Amino acid sequence: MSKYTVLIVEDEDAIREMLVIILEQVGFQVVAVSSAEEAQKALADDFPDLILLDWMLPGMSGVEWARRLKKDESCKTLPIILLTARGEEEDKVNGLDCGADDYVTKPFSPKELIARIKAVLRRSGKMNGSTLIVSGDLVLDTEQHSLMIANKPLDVSPTEFRLMQFFMTHPDKVYSRTQLLDQVWGRSVYIEERTVDVHIRRLRKILTEHARENLVQTVRGFGYRFSPQQD
Ligand code: CA
Repeated sequence: MSKYTVLIVEDEDAIREMLVIILEQVGFQVVAVSSAEEAQKALADDFPDLILLDWMLPGMSGVEWARRLKKDESCKTLPIILLTARGEEEDKVNGLDCGADDYVTKPFSPKELIARIKAVLRRSGKMNGSTLIVSGDLVLDTEQHSLMIANKPLDVSPTEFRLMQFFMTHPDKVYSRTQLLDQVWGRSVYIEERTVDVHIRRLRKILTEHARENLVQTVRGFGYRFSPQQD
């Protein structure tokens, strides 16, 4: 299975650790935190493909955070599965009311959880048919989440993957850091502009390993440009 990233937000250590094991076993990439506040910070770094969110958390509750995300322009399409220890119908309705895509009641079987995660990923379009973006010998597969140069896979993070996806679909144009933040990270996530530089640097390092250091160019005083011809 390809690498989808799941952000786990669960304050109970034992459950969180178990979730990490279950998800990693089937090939998911996992980021695990224990509060909505930490999860918010994790989002600033990288968007996951799905959030597994505990209902009852210290500080901001899972339901409250889900509600905020669904109101946020850049986060509202992020699929959320609520984890709840409660089983009452009313609570389930409340859970979906906050914008969650599904809910799983604890205790759950690993099989059921994985099935629900895959179903939500499919519904959200993340697991539907393969979409290839090709530029020279660069091939980006939005379904497999893979990026290859001359059939060799590149080890890029989810953010660098989205950055490349944006560049490859918008070649030969210069984009400022602010524009890239808007397009790749989403406007309402508060991230410093130098975050763009950090990810560009990592991306260049990877591209350089494949002798493609000129694909992403710095345009002094303005920003960055992806030029597929100049490799
Ligand atoms: Ca809890």
